[in-house]
Amino acid sequence: MRHNNKMGSVIGTGIFLAIVGLVLFVIFSSSFERDAPTVSVAHNGYWNLKTPLSVRISDASGISGYRVYLEANGERVDLAQAQNAQPEHEVILKIEVPKKVAAFKPESVKIVIEAQDTSSWNFFRGNKAQEALLLSVDTKAPQVSTVAHSMYVHKGGSGLVVFAAEDPNLASLYIEIEGGKRFVPQPFYKEGYYISLVAWPLTQPTFSARLIATDKAGNLHKSSVPFRVSDRAYQISNLKLSDAFLEGKIAELAELFEIAHESDKRLDQFRLINEQVREKNEKLIHDLTSVVSSERIDNFEITPFYPLKNGQKVASFGDHRLYSYENQDKVSESYHLGLDLASVQMGAIMSQNYGTVVFSDFNGIYGTMPVVDHGLGLYTLYGHCSSAAVQKGDKVHPGDKIANTGMSGYAMGDHLHFGVLVQGIEVRPEEWMDTKWLKLNITDTISDAKKIIDRK
Ligand SMILES: [Zn+2]
Repeated sequence: MRHNNKMGSVIGTGIFLAIVGLVLFVIFSSSFERDAPTVSVAHNGYWNLKTPLSVRISDASGISGYRVYLEANGERVDLAQAQNAQPEHEVILKIEVPKKVAAFKPESVKIVIEAQDTSSWNFFRGNKAQEALLLSVDTKAPQVSTVAHSMYVHKGGSGLVVFAAEDPNLASLYIEIEGGKRFVPQPFYKEGYYISLVAWPLTQPTFSARLIATDKAGNLHKSSVPFRVSDRAYQISNLKLSDAFLEGKIAELAELFEIAHESDKRLDQFRLINEQVREKNEKLIHDLTSVVSSERIDNFEITPFYPLKNGQKVASFGDHRLYSYENQDKVSESYHLGLDLASVQMGAIMSQNYGTVVFSDFNGIYGTMPVVDHGLGLYTLYGHCSSAAVQKGDKVHPGDKIANTGMSGYAMGDHLHFGVLVQGIEVRPEEWMDTKWLKLNITDTISDAKKIIDRK
């Protein structure tokens, strides 16, 4: 008896464990999972009925079938469906719309997605998901047209364009040039008009500019701004590095920038300063000067820049400097991205235009360097100063002193490195110092644009 009892309890425990095991299996097995498929659609509430709609369905046990249809103006149109022979855990659909849907001219469409998984849950019927979303339909591309533009853009130089852009669901608006740089326009004068300065970067061999607009539904406009382009040759200078220079200025800068520990070789220190330090300093300049206001601008009055009285040109903008040392050619290279002017020691640097100081601090090879924002993405930069007369946030007026010239940073003698930037691109300062160029390209273009806009 005692023996049988023991047997019975063993069998009982075995059955109990089997039931527990089965229940646990049902609970934890993916074949009995209870989560309905997850459905997601990439959208922002708008659709042009052209861009394929991207639908993702996923499920842990596998997708046994799905159906996608749309409803518009009371009609129902099937878009996709499948009963999978081999269930997958993820299905990505790129749904195209039959042309007849566009012919309904719907203001909105309802998209319904149904999906079922392969789970044995629900008495082997599986879990079902149904997702519905309403999309506003917009099939019209943004309307964009050039109103006025400066005639020429020279290599390394600047240009201006005024244009009209209209779309009820405008998403992005910019001017793209060869090489991919995008210029952001600012609202101008009256509703629906925009203005932007553009620049042909010095190192870009050719130039063209395109107005690009997109709306929230994915419609795209692209058109060229018919600038005439004019190539321009820039100087190439072959410079021989002397031991006196390496042991003097470079040794001093290496200590200042704390790169002395990276290399004890003067030539390597020169390379680090001329390449890595320069790159870091120019990145700061590009970041500071890429900012454009999104506020409407009614006018852009700028007078020729003349920052240093009796300043004589001592180095040109765009100079491509190739360095050699002893019998080694091209040990390093750089582009000179400003105009160097020299007058007296610690000469006064004056402002001829209104602006806001966005930086007035030390910036590596540029030394003490105030930067002034003049609006419309135009900035001026004053490098190698001995002292700055302005602080970040200051408003400057014509006749205000900005700084005194000096030789801070990577400079061999007292001078001003005068830089002009358009949305983060260094441009030829001489254009912005030239009365005739300013009138022809900036002032006249703006007044022509206003006349055209007023006539409409
Ligand atoms: Zn310079």
